[in-house]
Amino acid sequence: MPNLAEVTHQVDLLLQTGQAMVVAAVAVDSFREINDTLGHQVGDDLLVEVTRRLHLSHPDAILGRIGGGRFAVAVPAGDTGDDPSMFGLGIRAQVEGGAQLGPVGTHVRLSVGCVMAPEHGSDGATLVRRAETAMYSARHVHGGPVLWEPAYEVQGQRRLAVVMALREALSSGAIGVAFQPKLDARTGFVTGVEALARWTHPALGSIRPDEFIPLAEASGLMGPLTSTVLRQSLTACKGWQRRGGRVGVAVNVSAETVLDAGFVTELAALLTAVDIAPDLLTIELTESVLVADPVLASERINELRAHGVKLSVDDFGTGYSSLTYLKGLPVDEVKIDKGFVDDVVDDAGDRAVVRAVVDIAHTLGLRVVAEGVEQDAQHLLLAELGVDEIQGYLHARPMPALDMAAWLRRRDVSTLV
Ligand code: C2E
Ligand code: CA
Ligand code: CA
Repeated sequence: MPNLAEVTHQVDLLLQTGQAMVVAAVAVDSFREINDTLGHQVGDDLLVEVTRRLHLSHPDAILGRIGGGRFAVAVPAGDTGDDPSMFGLGIRAQVEGGAQLGPVGTHVRLSVGCVMAPEHGSDGATLVRRAETAMYSARHVHGGPVLWEPAYEVQGQRRLAVVMALREALSSGAIGVAFQPKLDARTGFVTGVEALARWTHPALGSIRPDEFIPLAEASGLMGPLTSTVLRQSLTACKGWQRRGGRVGVAVNVSAETVLDAGFVTELAALLTAVDIAPDLLTIELTESVLVADPVLASERINELRAHGVKLSVDDFGTGYSSLTYLKGLPVDEVKIDKGFVDDVVDDAGDRAVVRAVVDIAHTLGLRVVAEGVEQDAQHLLLAELGVDEIQGYLHARPMPALDMAAWLRRRDVSTLV
């Protein structure tokens, strides 16, 4: 099967004849996870099957493998009715679906990005690269197809600028942390605070975690980012303790960082260095870590637990339904995602989800936190549904450590000791 260089060369040759073309970049969703969890043999079988289906769908197309689970498919424009979206949809229709890979049954899903030539580029390399850029956006819109737009280039430049600035910010200590309290749903007592990374860049301004966390993950910067957030959080926690308040802090940790072999050791060393009781620290994990590698994840979770650290499953209900993973894992709480809280008052479906999560969590002996609570009515209803703790703008926005100390003093958190 042709590789990236060969595909771009073939596209170049066809373009030189003045031929208008459509080029699609196709990614097999979750290829890496499948490869890592089910083994390379299954991964290879999957690629063979996808190749076969791609070839069947467009026997005369230029077809090549451009990376891990990624392919390029290029055809003369006339063959597709000149509509790249129809081309992309056609590929999905013919390639997606169930597949039996040896003993393993799976479901193939694709993300597809498309470009047109000459509109979107005049050489094979540019066209394939732009189709891939569109393909990455397709991941966020149920697979697409997404047609490339010039705006993606600008976004790409922004991403690059942000990654470079982030690397610099991490080495100069410019990443800060804000803290947001969690309250007992019935008594209103503070049960702990969550640490949230904050970054203001001198030229780029304030950059939201939703932008820089995914970029840090994609560029190998999560290790140093987590270290600085942990260090600042534990130091702040120690500070509050000195002022008489024993309040725990929760830190968000990405899947990759938790699975990293060195993480638990680093954490233990930090707890000792700052001199904090381990049960004052909660690690918030998202469901994806449990799904990506359940065996390794539970090993790490057990190690963390053995150090006395608490564990929380974040954004619960948004990803895969991991209620099954939850069973048998030594976690202490689940956080119901804001998505279910927003409409909990009006939407019977969301209410049912909250009720079900509370039910199961309580059966397993876990506490339930609702996040993103903005209205009294939501707080009241969530408390009624059995939610144990409330976090949200209704009670407090994330704030710097010193403001948090003043806020805690006003709430007289010391009575909780
Ligand atoms: P998350 O862990 O789900 O954190 C909750 C987010 O909801 C925070 O956004 C918080 O400021 C926001 N929030 C809290 N209450 C309300 C509310 O009542 N209304 C609304 N509209 N929003 C509320 P933030 O700080 O922008 O963080 C976004 C996400 O970025 C976090 O979601 C988390 O996934 C990630 N993140 C933040 N800091 C870190 C970090 O240090 N490490 C890692 N791995 N991820 C982080
Ligand atoms: Ca969180
Ligand atoms: Ca969350």
